[in-house]
Amino acid sequence: MSAATPQPTMAGIPDPMAPAAPAPQPAQSGLFAGIPDPTQPAAPVVERDQAAEVASLDNALNNPDFTSVFAPIDPQASRKKMAKQAGVEPVILMEHVTKIYPAQPNKPALDDINIEIYPGEFVFLVGHSGSGKTTLLSTLNRDVKPTSGRILVAGQDLMKIKNRKVPFLRRQIGAVFQDFKLLPQKTAYENVAFALQCIGKPKGVIRSQVPEVLRLVGLADQMDSLPDQLSGGEQQRVAVARAMVNRPPLLICDEPTGNLDPAISLGIMKLLERINRTGTTVIVATHDREMVDSMHRRVIALEGGHVIRDQERGGYGNYGTN
Ligand code: ADP
Ligand code: MG
Repeated sequence: MSAATPQPTMAGIPDPMAPAAPAPQPAQSGLFAGIPDPTQPAAPVVERDQAAEVASLDNALNNPDFTSVFAPIDPQASRKKMAKQAGVEPVILMEHVTKIYPAQPNKPALDDINIEIYPGEFVFLVGHSGSGKTTLLSTLNRDVKPTSGRILVAGQDLMKIKNRKVPFLRRQIGAVFQDFKLLPQKTAYENVAFALQCIGKPKGVIRSQVPEVLRLVGLADQMDSLPDQLSGGEQQRVAVARAMVNRPPLLICDEPTGNLDPAISLGIMKLLERINRTGTTVIVATHDREMVDSMHRRVIALEGGHVIRDQERGGYGNYGTN
């Protein structure tokens, strides 16, 4: 979406598209503070224990700067109800969306999907493997174009959007995947910085925002590490930092904890919840039944490409274990 298109807002709720307050400066000073020195050898691989890793993320999440950078909202409020009362448009609207892949002409991957998601909601998308979760998420950033139906994201009609506008749409959607998708030759810092470089952010912005967002996900001490020097949970935190560094209003996560141990998964989910509390709409496709049951958030369940359940404060339900 271009800067000229206003984002729906409601009274008292911060507009995630509005320019953020300047990021606090890191404790170190100097132009290159926090930027990896390519002349220095990378730190050796260290096996960190899981408890320490969980504690480091908890510490970061309790950092008051988190909410100074991403403004807080009331976590108890029903976003859907508030949005409807305030006449706010859904950030995602799907009407009769059907997707038939040419390889499977008789078995739609999505079949007549109708969903509204409002700004600031946290939504779990659950269902068996093959039920259509990835296809549904992929329609939101136009990786996949539905065969029929109507889909609006942040006010844009994705059935009509011109291909040249798709990169602008994608700037508004942070994405996190099961396999992290980090660039293996780049450090944590460089992976996050690259996302900003790709959209032409000035160097000064990159130098202030990248260390800040890595600090917020608890990786202040691992900025110079390459992905293979980090644990799975740490790599996913880099991926979350990368998805969030441009402060998109919408974050989509496809099985973000699928490769992680339960304790680490909980930390990642807390991080996503914390990001949601700052106003970002978050959609998480997951198989993690315990996580979904424990978080009491909106749950949309898919089965064979159909929505079979959409509950405001649901649990995983009885829809498969993998
Ligand atoms: P989930 O993420 O819930 O596992 P998917 O969206 O990946 O579900 O898959 C939904 C259905 O669409 C499955 O039957 C799958 O085989 C099919 N499918 C997914 N991607 C493609 C594709 N690129 N080509 C053909 N069929 C696909
Ligand atoms: Mg999938």
